[in-house]
Order: sequence, then C-alpha cells, then structure tokens
Amino acid sequence: MAFKPDKPSIHGETPEGLGSRLAEAGHPRYRAGQIFEWLYPRRAESAEVMTNLPAPLRTWLSENYDFSATQVLGKKTASDVTQKLLQKLRDGSLIESVIIRAPMEGVGQDKSRRTICISTQVGCAYGCKFCASGLEGWRRNLSVGEIVSQLVQVCRIEDQADPTRAAEGLASFDNIVVMGMGEPLANYENLLAALRIVNAPWGFGFGARRITISTSGVVPKILELAEEPLGFRLAISLHGATNEVREKIMPVNRKYPLEELVPAAKAFARKHGRMLTLEFILIEDINDSLEQAKKLASIARELHAHVNLIPYNKVEGLPWVRPSISRQDRFAKELRALGVTATLRREKGHDIDAACGQLRLQKEKEQGPDSLPPAAA
Ligand code: SAH
Ligand code: SF4
Repeated sequence: MAFKPDKPSIHGETPEGLGSRLAEAGHPRYRAGQIFEWLYPRRAESAEVMTNLPAPLRTWLSENYDFSATQVLGKKTASDVTQKLLQKLRDGSLIESVIIRAPMEGVGQDKSRRTICISTQVGCAYGCKFCASGLEGWRRNLSVGEIVSQLVQVCRIEDQADPTRAAEGLASFDNIVVMGMGEPLANYENLLAALRIVNAPWGFGFGARRITISTSGVVPKILELAEEPLGFRLAISLHGATNEVREKIMPVNRKYPLEELVPAAKAFARKHGRMLTLEFILIEDINDSLEQAKKLASIARELHAHVNLIPYNKVEGLPWVRPSISRQDRFAKELRALGVTATLRREKGHDIDAACGQLRLQKEKEQGPDSLPPAAA
C-alpha cells in the first residue's frame, strides 16, 4: 500500500496550485505569492512566522499543509569537507543527503563551492551489486514535497555557514547532484516537478545547468529527459565498458545494454549540446583492467564525455575491493593517453560511509527491522 501523508507538503506546491486551494478555501489567491516569498528566500519553518499574513490564513496553512516533510535526524562530518545528513520522512523512512565542500580557487578559505547530493527514493530497485542503497530493495518513491524539503533542510544548515547568501534569499549551495539513494529516472515525474520548483524564480531560482541527474541507464527516460526544455546535466553510471562486465555488477544492463544506452546518451548530448559525465567506480579485478580502460575510452570519445573515476567505497557485507592507488592511476593514465579527460576522485567522505545508502543502512541495522514501515507493495 502506498504511503499517504495526512497533509500534503507545502514544498510540493506551485503558486497556481496553492492559489487555487486558497481560493477554494475563501482566501485571496494573491497570498500565494507572499507565501512563496517566505518558503524559499526566507526558508520559513512554519506558517506562524509569516507575519504579513492574517492570522486565520496562517492557521489554515498550518492545518492544511506539512512544513517539514523531512526532518534532519543526524549529521556526520568527515575529516575532509563532506557532511552527511540523515533525514527522516513522516512514515519513519530514512534518506540521505550529502553536502560536499570544495575550496574555490582564488577565494579565501571560508569560501567554498557547495554541492548538495540528494536522494529520490527510499531504497532502490535496481540492485547494483556494489551499492548499499540497493541492498534491501526499493521501498517507495519520494514525493515532490519530500525532494524539495530535503533541499530546504540542507539550505537551513548551510545558511548558518553563509548568512550573506541567506540574507539575499539565494540558495546556499552552488550545485545539486541527484546521486543519493534511488534511481532518479525511476521517479521521473516527481523528480522533474521538484526540480522545476527548485529552478522557478518563485522557488530557489536555481539554474538547470547547475543540476546533474545521475542514472544507472534507464534508456527510455534518458530520451524523455532529452526532450525537457530545462537543460539539466546528465551523468551516466557506466561502471563497465562491455556488456559482459557491466552485467556482472548492474542488472539494469540486461534490460538496457550498451548498444541501447550509448545511442540514448548520444541523443541527449546532441540535444543539449552539453558534455556528459560517465561515472566509473573502480573495483579490483572486476573493471579495472587496461582492456576496460581502452573500451571505456572509446565510449567516452564517441560521446565526448568526461569520465569520473570513483575508487570503490567499501560496503559492509559486500565482497568487492578497492584497487590500489597505483592501479587506479594506471587506469586513469591509460584513459588520458587515449585522449579522454578523466578525473580520479580521491573520494571524499570515506570515513563517514559516504557512498550512497550506507548511513541509512547502518541506522536501520541499529534500530532493527521492526522500526521500519512495511515495504511498499
Ligand atoms: N541511481 C543513480 C544515482 C544514485 S547512485 C545511479 O546509479 O547513477 C549514485 C552514485 O553512487 C552512482 O554512480 C553509484 O554507482 C555510486 N555508488 C554506489 N555505491 C558505491 C560504492 N560502494 N562506492 C562508490 N560509489 C558508489
Ligand atoms: Fe540504485 Fe544507483 Fe545504487 Fe544502482 S547505484 S542500486 S541504480 S542507487
């Protein structure tokens, strides 16, 4: 049975939708604009703080809308620049968001570029063999309000670090990557509706070009995304440069093999005239051979894609091993020698289990399965 929250999340609303509900309840439509001023530039946590609204309207808002579809349950800070937030949904499910701070060149120490990594589902149905998010299957999709609320929570935390941006009503982050728990393109409608809110001038006014959606390769949805007027960036989790290798670790490859995925990626790149990213987790003796590097280089060249190499992050209970630094370097060097731009991520947050889904898994193990809602049918 699908989860039904008592009240809809205010963060799932648009000015038109809220305006109609206001009008139905006998309040003036134009109040919607005032309410949105409070929601995003001022990150209001409740209707009570909306002091320019009449008291009966504030009461109506509190009675009819949920202002905290997600709540921050805990934070874990790594020794480097990564912070991980565990957020709790109204049905008790847990999701993760990560804040990654990279120093900005030429700017003082206190200024850094902040990338926020968000989740789109509770669990994941895709079952990639190296990933903690997929270990316990899929539970449900996040609603539009939950996806947006997740960002608002992160924004509130970041506001404390950068009050200037908060005072100007700007989002307190520079990039959004949809790379947390879940397969974003399997929750396409809600994700797109949420990102439109994030992008809208009445929302965070956050440019689509600063939003990257990562997919394990859901071909029909990549083609659909290519037709979207908003030009989001796309990252493809490749992790194997041949069907044989990819299939071993990514069941999705059986449904959408490379001969379908690569042309879909190409169609996306052509449509948006923008560089794609190929994500490639390096796992010892699975995909880190020079032969794989050569095959990966040929795909990357065909797609004019940038390659992000991610040394595998250990997941408890899984057999995979991260290759040695020299093997990682050898792989990156081969790609570069073949004319591909590749970044070898000395990945951040290893000490806080930053690979997607790990913090939630740990917490659920601590709490025991009885503390969780039943899996969605
Ligand atoms: N489902 C989407 C987005 C979420 S996964 C996708 O697969 O692209 C986000 C990224 O985290 C993916 O590139 C995924 O491969 C990576 N990831 C998952 N488990 C990991 C691990 N153990 N070590 C390193 N990266 C991991
Ligand atoms: Fe799902 Fe992505 Fe993890 Fe694969 S890597 S199981 S698609 S979250």
